[in-house]
Amino acid sequence: VPITERETAEYMETNGQHCPNCQSNDLDCDRIQVDNDTAWQEIRCEQCKSTWIDLYMLSDIVNFKRGC
Ligand SMILES: [Zn+2]
Repeated sequence: VPITERETAEYMETNGQHCPNCQSNDLDCDRIQVDNDTAWQEIRCEQCKSTWIDLYMLSDIVNFKRGC
């Protein structure tokens, strides 16, 4: 069963703390991988064995120090 828009929205609202399928917070996160402007992380729910990928995009820059 594919994830619904509502499940996706709820997942985003809670910053990906709970499994979209069973609401467990027992999530196993792989390391974050980066390719140009996109980063992603494979997530697996230890409770119901669902798997998905969290996608990250550039959101801000901080600590900018101009070189010249
Ligand atoms: Zn789950």
